[in-house]
Amino acid sequence: MAEKCNDAHCPVHGSLSLRGRTFTGTVISTKMQRTAIVQWGFKRPVTKFERYEKRKSKVKVHNPDCLKIKKGDIVEIRECKPLSKAKHFVIIKKLGEDILFEEKQELLEQGKTRSKKKEPVKEETSENESN
Ligand SMILES: [Zn+2]
Repeated sequence: MAEKCNDAHCPVHGSLSLRGRTFTGTVISTKMQRTAIVQWGFKRPVTKFERYEKRKSKVKVHNPDCLKIKKGDIVEIRECKPLSKAKHFVIIKKLGEDILFEEKQELLEQGKTRSKKKEPVKEETSENESN
């Protein structure tokens, strides 16, 4: 984080004040200039069925140059003042990388064509296979 960037909306080097809510999500696109799309999932209770439904949220966030965010990175985002019409979040920290991101995207594409078999995506790495 030693390098400087001349981005006025950078939370470290610029003069952007942060307030509001904080979320952790995965970067799904960085195609726009200094803007990324971050998505995260959450569970919402459905009282009628006494169960939870899975939902996801997607927002446009400001992507400062100095963080070098790539597609598939897990980031922490924080709310800030509106930076443009649809942007009022900024990436404050890179937490890690989703190594299975590409595979998940492929599975999602397959799922769109309604294949019957669902392969479970497991996050854990099996290290105790070598006996
Ligand atoms: Zn910066």
